[in-house]
Amino acid sequence: MTAAVPTGPKSLQVLLVDDNPIQLSLLRHLFQRHGHITLEARNGAEALILLATEFPDVVVSDCVMPLLDGYQFCRLVKDDRATRHLPVLLLTAQGTGLARFWAKTCGADRFLVKGRDLDHVVEAAIALAKQAPRPHTTHAISKLAQENFGVDSIQRRLAQALEQRLVETALRDSVARLYTADHDTPRLIEGFIEILQELVLPGALLVAYLGEEGLICHGVHGSSTSAEDRLALEQAAAQKGLLQSMVSCHWHPAPDDGERRRSLRDPVFRVIPATTPGYPVVGAMAFITERRAAEDFERLFEIAAEELGRLLSLEDSRLRLYHQAIRDPLTGLYNRKHILDMLDMELDQCGRFGQSLSIMLVDFDHFKAVNDRFGHAVGDQVLSTMAQRMVLGLRKVDQLGRIGGEEFLAYCPQTDLEGARALAERLREKVAQDPIPGLPPNDRVTLSIGLASWEGAEDSAEKLLARADQALYQAKSEGRDRAVG
Ligand code: GH3
Ligand code: MG
Ligand code: MG
Repeated sequence: MTAAVPTGPKSLQVLLVDDNPIQLSLLRHLFQRHGHITLEARNGAEALILLATEFPDVVVSDCVMPLLDGYQFCRLVKDDRATRHLPVLLLTAQGTGLARFWAKTCGADRFLVKGRDLDHVVEAAIALAKQAPRPHTTHAISKLAQENFGVDSIQRRLAQALEQRLVETALRDSVARLYTADHDTPRLIEGFIEILQELVLPGALLVAYLGEEGLICHGVHGSSTSAEDRLALEQAAAQKGLLQSMVSCHWHPAPDDGERRRSLRDPVFRVIPATTPGYPVVGAMAFITERRAAEDFERLFEIAAEELGRLLSLEDSRLRLYHQAIRDPLTGLYNRKHILDMLDMELDQCGRFGQSLSIMLVDFDHFKAVNDRFGHAVGDQVLSTMAQRMVLGLRKVDQLGRIGGEEFLAYCPQTDLEGARALAERLREKVAQDPIPGLPPNDRVTLSIGLASWEGAEDSAEKLLARADQALYQAKSEGRDRAVG
């Protein structure tokens, strides 16, 4: 191990790791020619020992070396909080296959092929050093200096690093599997909580996210976590300002196995936003647990929050796409295809359980005149207002869709023709009650409605729609502003 004479104010300290003396001296010359200081080690183990007292700006390491190879060395550097920020450039003889795979998965910042790319090594190493975040040098040195660098110790650290990596991969994999198995947001969140709860129990864990119906919060708690603890956790999540408000959380007690019937030692709270790069914050996780668990599993909690962010943003995108696919953009009602698909499904139920069902075909009267008098934009606004009113005029169980320009289809489960007539009257009243924004105060848009009821096993959706269409035609010809059927 030698250190060369420093030159120039911009010179960097570069740790070179290579078991081949010729290669090492070649690298030394390259870096020193550019005025940089070099530190040298002959394998990963020597390099680790060196890092206990020195803090170079960048590491350039060979891959295949005795004792501790470049990949293992890199994994240890990247798994240790003290050295994680140190950029590592790996040099290898091969540019493809497993060499490249290992270089990527061991956390190396850059990977160059010796024969081909060696001219760029200085430039690449310096670029990495400049991009690297400033390390907490004092912490790094004091922590590393306490370590023992014997072969046993290095093997133990390596085994721990690999174990840690395996646990992290298993965690990511378990969360990813949730998404392939289920497409229901609350169930996804429950699955996530179930995976993570073992790390916080006997404490408590909550996940808050922006669902379709606003902010939703689910949590699990051990028997030793009091109601006050849980409330404090909810407040901690709200106070972080990650979510504008906090609704009360749905808590479940965790399955208790007696061993957990003890109080929390030295409890700590943590709130971690669940973010995905390029996506707004859609959730957060918060937990209370023993300080030791919080520290031991710190990296796992970070990964879990990352995975939660990914899960929530995927779910959010999926729901958006789904809404776009089934809704009409102007009115927000179901589009033609979806309301007809839903009707088909509902008719299946009617066939199976012998239930009644009625449909309404609704067409606005003289709507062309609205466009002609006030313009198409006002026409659109009126269409949208009328659509909202129709939703309010129907019951919760009834479903409404826009099947054409100003034509709508509603189906009313467990409703016979008599019931449907009453509903149609209510609908006509509801839309005519108040003035319509955009139209003169006394102008109303009236509805013509064709009704038809399901007539049992011999009936079909096509026949039902044809009868309703016939009734609508009759309503129009009898003078409009009425329901027929
Ligand atoms: P009626 O049904 O009473 O016989 O008369 P109508 O004037 O409503 O006639 P019809 O149903 O044949 O025409 C529908 C009109 O609705 C045609 C078009 O001007 C208008 N319309 C359809 N879709 C839209 C839309 O998305 N926006 C706007 N602004 N107008 C629409
Ligand atoms: Mg019309
Ligand atoms: Mg029409």
